[in-house]
Amino acid sequence: MAIDRRNFIKASATAIAASAVSGKLPAMTMMSRSKKMKLSYSIYDISMVHTFNISGFSRDVAQSILVEISYDGQVGYGEAGLPPYMIGQNAQTAADFIKKVNLEQFSNPFILEDILNYVDSLEEGMSCPKAAIDIALHDLIGKLLDKPVYELWGYNKVTTPLSSFTIGFDSEDMVRTKIEEASRFKLLKLKLGKDEATDKMMVRVAREITDKMIYVDANQGWKDKYYALDMIGWLTDYDITFVEQPMPKNMCDDMAWLTSKSPLPTMADEACQRLCDIRNLYQQYSGIVVKTLKSTGLREGKKMIETAKALGMKTMIGCSTETSCAISGAAQLSVMTDYADTDGNLLISNDCFSGMKIVDGKVTLNNKPGIGVVKL
Ligand code: MG
Repeated sequence: MAIDRRNFIKASATAIAASAVSGKLPAMTMMSRSKKMKLSYSIYDISMVHTFNISGFSRDVAQSILVEISYDGQVGYGEAGLPPYMIGQNAQTAADFIKKVNLEQFSNPFILEDILNYVDSLEEGMSCPKAAIDIALHDLIGKLLDKPVYELWGYNKVTTPLSSFTIGFDSEDMVRTKIEEASRFKLLKLKLGKDEATDKMMVRVAREITDKMIYVDANQGWKDKYYALDMIGWLTDYDITFVEQPMPKNMCDDMAWLTSKSPLPTMADEACQRLCDIRNLYQQYSGIVVKTLKSTGLREGKKMIETAKALGMKTMIGCSTETSCAISGAAQLSVMTDYADTDGNLLISNDCFSGMKIVDGKVTLNNKPGIGVVKL
């Protein structure tokens, strides 16, 4: 895609305006139009601290795609997990997609909308590698302007919410151990949706141990709307904050019925992929869970959160099993959400980045430019 003169001048003006705020010489003025962005990737094997059990699958290892975009002496980092529930997206297909992307045709990294629309147009789906590119581009732009992404969006990092820590379903003893390990979190997420006995054991054990805020994620595990409503009614006795994806994502009418009757808010996760989904989800759920690997990254994730908020829906930023690279990218969006579930980097034993932290249970962003990560 050629960059026309109008877009170049417009982007230059944006860069100069942003740089005026930072008091630095704008990177754009130093840039010759011959400079090109170079994209590279690798597949990263992630080791889990505990076997992760949720409704539908369990696993000890995971993979993600790591992306680097180099330009003008800076490197932007991006990542997306490749979990099995992202059907058709794996190490091979994600790598095949990245090979189709030609960023060298762009001499101006600031025309994010043009670049990411081009990336999105290359192939239907493939939200994971698209997200890794999107995050790397945001990181690069932040570094070129010497500003954190959340500040480029006009947000203050003090507005970040609590992040939950996820407890997958397990034996009673392991549930106790995991809750003790999560002592620094003030919000717990229990994975339900296995069977009634296990689901109720999880909630009872958690409430025996702690009075922290708890929400549950059934991961589509409750297949009948009457059963789902009974379970939600039972959960209200245990002071549960909300229920994530109680029923299968395709049971739209039943889900709308359930939310209309439910005493607890319902949140769409698997049912919520991209911006275009929100129009229908508004009728079916109380809120949405945005994950960068579903939304194709930060650009569309931000639009989703803004749209949902405008409709009066609750919002949460989630993640997958990913390193601190993808999690720090997602955490930039947490400045505008009600809740965060950004603990994926804490469930792994070989993190290759450092970035956002959880301090006193709260998502804590740093002042570093871009997504605020350092490669280890
Ligand atoms: Mg979920």
